[in-house]
Amino acid sequence: MTDVSRLPAVVAENWDWQMRGACRGMDAAVFFHFDNERGLVRRHREESAKEICSRCPVRAECLEHAVSTEETYGIWGGLGEDALRRLIAAKRRSPGPE
Ligand code: SF4
Repeated sequence: MTDVSRLPAVVAENWDWQMRGACRGMDAAVFFHFDNERGLVRRHREESAKEICSRCPVRAECLEHAVSTEETYGIWGGLGEDALRRLIAAKRRSPGPE
């Protein structure tokens, strides 16, 4: 079963940013890899996603969401999975004020 305990409460303000994302309405396959994807195919897909993120008005909100919910699958806030894992690990080591 999926653990949803880290997801924000179902309150419109917590999710409203998603309505303004540059990726809204796009094919999610640009942002999420398929099984066993690797090499140039993976790199090109990730570069395409990051280019979209680079002009997104809610990039900061998207990244904050990914880190706070410990989301490591896909491209979020312009970062790939390795970068997200590093940020999440750093936050766990030094959580700071809530
Ligand atoms: S930062 Fe990227 S993944 Fe996040 S909402 Fe914007 S376009 Fe979508």
